[in-house]
Amino acid sequence: MTGLEGFIGMHRDRQGSRRHVTVVGAGIVGICSANYLLKQGFEVEIIDPTVPGSEDQCSYGNAGGICPGSCIPNSMPGVLWNVPRWLMDPEGPLYVRLAYLPHALPWLVRFLVASRKSRVAKISAAMRSLHRYTFDCYEPLMKEAGCEELLQKHGQLFVYESQDGPAKNAYGLCLRREQGVRVDILNADEIRQLEPALAPIFKSAVYLPEQGQCPNPGRLVAKLAENATRQGARFIRARVADFEMGAQGVVAVQLEGGERRPVEQAVLAAGAWSADLARKLGNRIPFETERGYHVMIRDADTNLRIQTISADRKFVASPMEEGLRIAGNVEFSGLKRPPNMVRADALLKQARPIFRHFREGEVKRWMGHRPGTPDSIPVIDRARRASNVIYAFGHGHQGLIAGSVTGKIVAEMAAGAPTMIDLAPFRADRF
Ligand SMILES: Cc1cc2nc3c(=O)[nH]c(=O)nc-3n(C[C@H](O)[C@H](O)[C@H](O)COP(=O)(O)OP(=O)(O)OC[C@H]3O[C@@H](n4cnc5c(N)ncnc54)[C@H](O)[C@@H]3O)c2cc1C
Repeated sequence: MTGLEGFIGMHRDRQGSRRHVTVVGAGIVGICSANYLLKQGFEVEIIDPTVPGSEDQCSYGNAGGICPGSCIPNSMPGVLWNVPRWLMDPEGPLYVRLAYLPHALPWLVRFLVASRKSRVAKISAAMRSLHRYTFDCYEPLMKEAGCEELLQKHGQLFVYESQDGPAKNAYGLCLRREQGVRVDILNADEIRQLEPALAPIFKSAVYLPEQGQCPNPGRLVAKLAENATRQGARFIRARVADFEMGAQGVVAVQLEGGERRPVEQAVLAAGAWSADLARKLGNRIPFETERGYHVMIRDADTNLRIQTISADRKFVASPMEEGLRIAGNVEFSGLKRPPNMVRADALLKQARPIFRHFREGEVKRWMGHRPGTPDSIPVIDRARRASNVIYAFGHGHQGLIAGSVTGKIVAEMAAGAPTMIDLAPFRADRF
């Protein structure tokens, strides 16, 4: 890994004034980018209509997994045969609203194409290259922001209600091992010893001891935003509507309401809202919001310690500062339609039986927009028509994991320094 020391420094133009970067979007990706840009000595302006860490951001309500060993794409060989079964189940893990299908279809076709084995191996390697440094890149930021307790390293547990769960998932395990991820296979007794909170319905499990978790992803974004403010970042509560082009690229952003803000360099980190803005800069990127849900149960009293994924029921159970979070679901229904909380309730219903003790206290429901590319990896690149704009979006199901690393890469790119990983797999023109 390239050391921070190698590229830290004050970035000044010939007149000696500090160079300026405008970050569009203050979710985990934008906020980590801002923090690393500040470390580099840039002046930073962050534009977002929402409050960092608030419920409007996808970064608020995720399952909290910070997993260096995450290298399994969503589209895996055989997915084609599972999709119809999932679609026919009204409470299943995947849902496409019929009226939305024509819109989502081109994306879904690309998603299926990405499931070819040769492609999966390459995507898996790209995911691992980005995710393996997640702890290294979060730790200095969390230390500076005074929130080191927001990274816990308890591992991650995938549980199965049959003996042959891991065997059925052999290809996924093989990918993880190829990428150097430690994988432990557990039997029913070992599951009980490791995580006594679970009901004795699980017969096999895969434990990934090197994975981590954030017990409050919204607070993490808020703390890192506070830190950025302390280091001199300026927040503008507004939505970017357009870019003004000059001979050398973007010269200003136009805000909704008409204000114009000059730009030297910009970072586009607007999560699920990024693709429309990228189109204005010459890149047509296949992009969908993969809407996901959670229920937060305040006093569930399960005593769950390790983030646990029910492989059969398709949800993640995460112990959080504010209670137990059950997260999951992928719904294709666009950015504008209101949430369908029946899907959140379906998660709750699926989750009850997996715990020995489960008290249904106060329940809060949430929906968020995952910024999804069809091949499960983000776009980290420069805009086609504006080399002074850096793309950092499309992190799909892994934006919390990849946020810190992406932030560091963005700062390297802005400084014109070599990037810590090869960015070829993340190019905007790969589709
Ligand atoms: C149920 C669920 C579970 C998940 N679990 C995990 C997990 O365990 N681990 C993991 O790594 N990931 C997980 N994810 C995915 C992760 O949450 C996302 O990948 C990540 O939050 C994306 O971050 P972001 O900064 O790109 O987007 P966001 O957090 O959505 O932030 C984008 C920001 O851009 C702003 N914006 C939009 N348009 C404009 C504009 N025109 N001008 C200015 N600002 C704009 C928005 O207001 C928003 O604040 C999960 C997601 C869901 C839904």
